[in-house]
Amino acid sequence: MEKQALRLITDNKLLKLRLEETGIEIIVAYGGKYDRLYLVVPGKYCSCPSFYFNTLSGRGKSGCVHLKACELAGQNIPENVVKWDYFKNKIFPMLFKGLIS
Ligand SMILES: [Zn+2]
Repeated sequence: MEKQALRLITDNKLLKLRLEETGIEIIVAYGGKYDRLYLVVPGKYCSCPSFYFNTLSGRGKSGCVHLKACELAGQNIPENVVKWDYFKNKIFPMLFKGLIS
């Protein structure tokens, strides 16, 4: 999983988004072919299917490649400042897609 996690970082699939004028910062990871996003709360939660299944499976595995990538990236996650309109029109639908598929 570590190799995959590093790949996410080098492919710039892990991003910090700061919402302009709100002070809100979230970490997201691109999934699939950059057509969906997962919300990542470092060390705690990810909205991707692997996190869901690993956490519920009870096989002692927990987390997912995105959480691992966050851990490896530490403070070095590239930050993007986005406007609310962009978040609402572009980011949010992709986050939603990541959540349901
Ligand atoms: Zn994940």
